[in-house]
Parts: sequence; structure tokens; C-alpha cells
Amino acid sequence: MKICVIGIGLIGGSIALTLKKKGLVSYVKGVEANQQHAERALALGLADEILPLEDAIHETDIIILSVPVSAAENMLPKILDHITTQVVMDVGSTKYGLVKTVKDHPNRKRFVATHPMWGTEYSGPDAATLNSFSGKAVVVTDREDSDAEALLKIENLYKTLGMHIVYMNSEAHDLHAAYVSHISHITSFALANTVLEKEREEDTIFQLASAGFESTVRLAKSNPDMWVPIFMQNRENVLDVLNEHITQLRKFKSCLEKENYEYLRELIEKANKIGKVLIEKQNTGLKNKV
Ligand code: NAP
Repeated sequence: MKICVIGIGLIGGSIALTLKKKGLVSYVKGVEANQQHAERALALGLADEILPLEDAIHETDIIILSVPVSAAENMLPKILDHITTQVVMDVGSTKYGLVKTVKDHPNRKRFVATHPMWGTEYSGPDAATLNSFSGKAVVVTDREDSDAEALLKIENLYKTLGMHIVYMNSEAHDLHAAYVSHISHITSFALANTVLEKEREEDTIFQLASAGFESTVRLAKSNPDMWVPIFMQNRENVLDVLNEHITQLRKFKSCLEKENYEYLRELIEKANKIGKVLIEKQNTGLKNKV
């Protein structure tokens, strides 16, 4: 099978690398806006050639759109204009805006909307890794709007990556993503800025930084080119979650101001339950996996 990967960075590059290694894909045509990334993608074996978009999509079976969500919204209608038998999938972190953009496109059924739930704080082709998706979930949204045969091809691709598939509509996806992914990034960006603002002596930060601090600010290293479009597209859901988060922060502040350590203990004990909830949900998710 030949595939075309548009945006051959962390996600597109990791998918290409793994599918080639697993033998599902024999040839990868890459499309890359950034010349340096194009050269790295070739050198790392993520793509066999880099071509302009119009040339890259021909004579391929699957087209994988793996650019920031704002660019994907611009590109998808144009790609659907030019396809014949190909299936197009995206991997974007928000879904509702993209799906709405192509709702009435005559080739809508050739498109499958997806979001693999794996990533890191790094970006570009050098961040791509082999077998990264194994054991993780992928969300496929609005499956009834895709051809059965197109859907099957994409499900097979994700199963080859070792992922289990969760189905939902794009609105539900964006709401859930705001809770499990987008808010943790905002918190991490804000915490990094808080510490940088207070602690001007960077050396001291690094000397004292413990594993706890590093894991909490890890996401703050994420690329703004990817995250600003996500926050723009999921603005309302993120604002909702952010309001709740600020309420929670205020509770902690108030406990300290009023020296109410009993309530502070209650808040922490309540938060401790997240560990148990996560294990239970993971077990239920594994039982329901496709
Ligand atoms: P990435 O590593 O930055 O890769 C995207 C690549 O696409 C970059 O090399 C970028 O080049 C290139 N690009 C940008 N605009 C383009 C265009 N118009 N035409 C061709 N190439 C273009 O980002 P990523 O993390 O792989 O994210 C890709 C998609 O996956 C996004 O939609 C994101 O929401 C989704 N996603 C990300 C994660 C995560 O944790 N990172 C997880 C799941 C899904 P430049 O650097 O020059 O812009």
C-alpha cells in the first residue's frame, strides 16, 4: 500500500515509520511546508520522497493529514476536490470544526475523522518514533458519515499500529478532549510561567527541580504552532473547563488564606481518588476496546 503523509512531523512521521516497519505500507509520499523538516524526514526514512501536495496525493491508497488543525481545515476541502479512489484521514486534536467544513462536500464519505490519543511535547520529524501508538486509544468520530470501505481501511491501519478504537461524535470528542488533554496543557503552560515569573534565577530552578516539578511542567514545552489553533477551535469547551479549574484553584487559595487545613485535607483526599478512577476507567475501556 502507498500512503501520502501531509505534515511529516511527530504524528505523521511516527505513523509512517511504524506502518512501514509493520509491512502494511511499502511507499510513503510526504508533503512538508518546511524545507529543513523535508530533508530530515527523508534522512530519517519517514518518507521515500517529498512532493508538492497536488503530485503527492495521486496514486496513493490513503492520505494522512497531519498538520496543525487550522491548516487541516484549509487543506481538507481542496484534497477532497482532487481525490478519486483514495481514503483521506486526519489526526487532529479537535474534530468538530473540521467535520463541519466538509459536511456537504461530494467526497465527504471518503474522509474518516480520527484523533490518535498519543503524543509528546516534542515536534517535527526528529520527534517521530517507532511503535509509539501501541496500546493507546484512537477516537474515530462521526463514522456514519464515512463509506464502510473507507472506515474499514482506516480501522485496519490503526489496528496495525496496535491501537484500540473508540467511536463518538465530533462534538463529544471536543468536549472530552478539553477535559483530558487541553486543560492539562493550559495548566502546564501557566505553571511554567508562574515559576519563571517568580524565580528569575533559572539556575536555582534547575538545581531544585524534582521529578514532580518536571513531570508537571513537561507539557509546557509543547509547540505553540500546534496548540494555539487547538485552543482557537475548542475555545468554548476549554473556557468551560478553565472556569471550573479556576474555581478549584480558588478553593485551595481560600483554604490557605483562612488557614482552613481541614478543608484543605478534604480537597487533597478528593483529588487522590483520581488514581483509582483512572485505573477503573482504563480497565473498562480495555474490556470495551474494538
Ligand atoms: P508537528 O510535529 O509540528 O508536525 C506537523 C508538521 O507539519 C510540521 O513539520 C509542520 O512544519 C508541517 N506543516 C505545517 N503546516 C503545513 C502545511 N500547510 N503543509 C505541509 N506541512 C505543514 O506536529 P504534530 O504534533 O505531529 O501534530 C500534527 C497533528 O497531530 C495536529 O493536528 C495535532 O493536533 C495532532 N496531534 C498531535 C498530538 C501531539 O501530542 N503532538 C497528538 C495527537 C494528535 P512547520 O514546523 O514548518 O510548521
